[in-house]
Amino acid sequence: MRHRICLRIVSTVLTTKMRSHTYIDSLGSARIMARALDGKALAKEIKDELKIKINNWINTGHRAPSLRCIIVGSDPASHTYVKNKIQAAIDIGIEAQTIKYDENLTEEALISAIELLNHDKLVDGILVQLPLPNGIDERRVCNAVAPEKDVDGFHITNVGQLSLDMPTIVPATALAVIEMLKRFKIETLGRNAVVVGRSKNVGLPIAMMLHSDRNHDSGLGMDATVTICHRYTPAEQLAVHCRNADIIVTATGVPKLIKADMIKPGATVIDVGITRITDEQGKTKLVGDVDYDEVRKVAGAVTPVPGGVGPMTVAMLMHNTFQASQKIWQQ
Ligand code: NAD
Repeated sequence: MRHRICLRIVSTVLTTKMRSHTYIDSLGSARIMARALDGKALAKEIKDELKIKINNWINTGHRAPSLRCIIVGSDPASHTYVKNKIQAAIDIGIEAQTIKYDENLTEEALISAIELLNHDKLVDGILVQLPLPNGIDERRVCNAVAPEKDVDGFHITNVGQLSLDMPTIVPATALAVIEMLKRFKIETLGRNAVVVGRSKNVGLPIAMMLHSDRNHDSGLGMDATVTICHRYTPAEQLAVHCRNADIIVTATGVPKLIKADMIKPGATVIDVGITRITDEQGKTKLVGDVDYDEVRKVAGAVTPVPGGVGPMTVAMLMHNTFQASQKIWQQ
């Protein structure tokens, strides 16, 4: 009797679990939805691991890693991003502070402020929140941060080292994508990957690691065959490339650019895009580049927005800060 009750409980649990991953298609057949790759849960796991490592680091006589986030101007989204980064850092034992400037700050004054932090022995990581106000040269500012403290990985030295498969500090969003592929055990060796978006801070480092040799020094190569698409890739060609891909990573900021009929059945889709839209009810919400509900019916695995690459980016920034702090201590 007890055995039968147990069985019934198990079968109810299984049915509920299956139901959340199935849908009924237009011909009335039950189909399995793609696995949602939960970036929020994975980010928590990584931050918990880092918290333990940082605690051990401090208990063995080192000072806490430290991070400074510079923000210029009053863009609300940028302030929210910085607040989240600082909170995540404090939660895991990193000493973190925001340095705020109003939008009238000159490029020279910003660079002087960065140079002071470069020489401060109590600072390990420096991050300048982008975008910067018009009139400030972002490339010059990124190159002003000392490469060993450049936890965003945007300095020309770090970008160069990444392109040569050398150990370096990798931009957090790109590292988040690679870490998700690894931890969710998505095979990349010899697979076709498409990166949609070619920006220097996001699309480029992702494509760089996806195509690189995993036996090289960085240890970050994924050995995929990579195609890069961008705004001048004709829409029909974008669809052709995507349909041939085992892995699609999209980083454009164009909502619903990636549709279900562009997906090879079973493919993995990583959505980096974040766009704030207002829905029919007048509510603002964040969406990615992927037509998520439809793509889930064809793909094998998809990252949601929000709750996918976003929280993982913050976790990998924490990883970069601890890495910088350990390297600086060794010097
Ligand atoms: P960007 O504007 O610098 O680059 C956008 C890229 O998309 C360009 O290379 C452009 O050629 C390409 N593109 C535009 N329209 C296209 C189209 N129709 N077809 C194909 N390609 C097209 O932006 P970015 O800084 O690279 O960021 C891209 C997206 O990723 C944005 O939505 C941004 O908010 C988001 N983002 C998310 C995170 C995160 O943590 N999840 C971090 C950084 C950026």
